[in-house]
Amino acid sequence: MSKTYQIEDVEYSLTKVRRSKHIRITISADGRVHVTLPTWTTLKTGHAFVLERLSWIRAQRATLQQQHDALPEEFRIRERFPDTPAHRKQAREILTERLHALNEEYFQKTVNRISIRNMRTRWGSCSNQGNISLSYIVAFLPEPLRDYVVIHELAHLVHMNHSAAFWKLVARADSQYAVHKKEIQQYR
Ligand SMILES: [Zn+2]
Repeated sequence: MSKTYQIEDVEYSLTKVRRSKHIRITISADGRVHVTLPTWTTLKTGHAFVLERLSWIRAQRATLQQQHDALPEEFRIRERFPDTPAHRKQAREILTERLHALNEEYFQKTVNRISIRNMRTRWGSCSNQGNISLSYIVAFLPEPLRDYVVIHELAHLVHMNHSAAFWKLVARADSQYAVHKKEIQQYR
């Protein structure tokens, strides 16, 4: 379980982690701050730890922001395709069509519901009820990468994990999946 707290301009989550020996701060690409604590420490210790490191956290976030700004424009698809109703509509059409076509060709599974969202930390997800969620921005990725995300989520209808069997199934529909998996990391 984790909860979000805030000190000045820094929002962070605190999570107790079994078997962890130290307090650890990680800052994700979107600037979010996560603090993990060994179970024997108090939350108070966690807050104090963050408070002591506020300027370090701000510096780290500034560096991440600079790295993001240095990203060539073609990779900054969120800026090229802002989250507008028109882009959402376009995304729903493209992704629904690709999902059904790829499902019919390679998986033949029942897709319960397709949700098009604006997910900041991942491209897609799949629930064990057969619901697939895709970030609208997937529709605007280069086509092979777009299809890779759709195939990845469809394969989760068969395997709800990232086992060898899962990747074997992905490979059947996308023989270049390893390249695509790597390439997609360049996009934000
Ligand atoms: Zn996955």
